[in-house]
Order: sequence, then C-alpha cells, then structure tokens
Amino acid sequence: MRTPSGTVVVIEDDPHIADLVGLYLQRDGFRVLEAADGSTGLALIERERPVIVVLDIGLPGELDGFDVCRRLVGAGGDGRPSVPVLVLSARDDEVDRVLGLELGADDYVTKPFSPRELVARVRAILRRSAAGRDAPHPPVLEVGAVAVDTARREVHVAGRPVVLTAREFDLLAHLAANVGLALSRRQLLDAVWGAGWIGDERTVDVHVRQLRKKVGAELPLATVWGVGYRLG
Ligand code: CA
Repeated sequence: MRTPSGTVVVIEDDPHIADLVGLYLQRDGFRVLEAADGSTGLALIERERPVIVVLDIGLPGELDGFDVCRRLVGAGGDGRPSVPVLVLSARDDEVDRVLGLELGADDYVTKPFSPRELVARVRAILRRSAAGRDAPHPPVLEVGAVAVDTARREVHVAGRPVVLTAREFDLLAHLAANVGLALSRRQLLDAVWGAGWIGDERTVDVHVRQLRKKVGAELPLATVWGVGYRLG
C-alpha cells in the first residue's frame, strides 16, 4: 500500500466519469471523495480540506463549475481559489477555457480526456504548488517595472499588485528567469506545464494573452514570429 498523497475532491455529475477519475487517482495513491453537484462539493471541500479539486463545469443544481470556482476564490481571500483546481469540461471553447483560467483554475482538461493525462496534470499542479512553498530564498526578478517575487509568488507592476493564476505566475516567472531569450512555445510548455504535458501549444498563447491583459502595457513581452515569446 502506498502512503496516501492527500485527498482529492472530484465534483462531477456523470457517475461514469467520476468513477473513472476516482479509480485512476486512487491507483496513484490519492484518497478520493466524489460529489455530484456544486453545493455538496463545496461542503466536502470545506470539511475535508483536499489538496486539489477536480471540477466539472456542467453541473446540475444551482451552482455550475464556474460558480464553485468563484466561491473558492471568495474563500481564498487573495483573488485565487483557496485550493488548486483542475477544470474538467465538455466544452472545448476558448471562452470557457479563458473564463476557467481567469477564475483561477490551475489547468483545464477537455472531455474526452485520458485518465492518465488527468492524473499527470494533477501531479504537475501539486508539484508546482509544493515548489512554490519549499523554494529557499529565490530572488525577486525585476524586468522593467514588473517585479516577480518567486518566494511569495507575488507580482507587482510599478508597485501595484497583480493577481495571477498559478500557471500565469509560473509562466511569467520562467520568462523573467530567462530575460532577453526567445523561448519557443514547446520550451515554455516543457518548463511550465511539465515535459509530460500533452496538449496544444496554443495553450501558451491563451496564457500570454491573460498575462498581457492583467499586467498591462508595462509588460515588455514580445512575440517572436515563428518561435514564441521573449521577455525584455
Ligand atoms: Ca457534467
């Protein structure tokens, strides 16, 4: 028996998908609790303090997945959900994807998905949040008016705090640590999403758009045609 890696709350109304996700997460050493609607899910999260939430968007009842995400952000108090969230959705539509990420979800998986990939992404999110906690005393990276504090995981632009999702932060921190270098979308995916991440390179573009929107004109982030992006 492996030591449990912590509790995962899966909020999904389709029992087949919930069971499949639950099975793979359990095999990977997690304790899994399932909820078939948003209110039950929120109560479970409150009571069980999971390490991560796997959240379906289309849910029956009063709260859909976006509402659940908003409630978690409200509980977090810093503009981010109080627990990492992996969104699971049948809707492969960029508006939904962006809304999910804007609400602070750490990643987004579109149905149909491979349960192995989902477990890998859960692990990657947990590794990133652990790395954020355990890092010794990394420096504050400054690029123009943008200051990236990798220890506190905070970003300030000319002294103004900017709230980013975990993934947006990791992307910005990686660009800032490689200031002046043109990085390809693939390099960014490998570094920020993890080498085993299976997904579309356009994911990088979606996150870059969010970064530009949130940080604003002070972000010296250039698109390098045919390659990817360069900060500074
Ligand atoms: Ca559903």
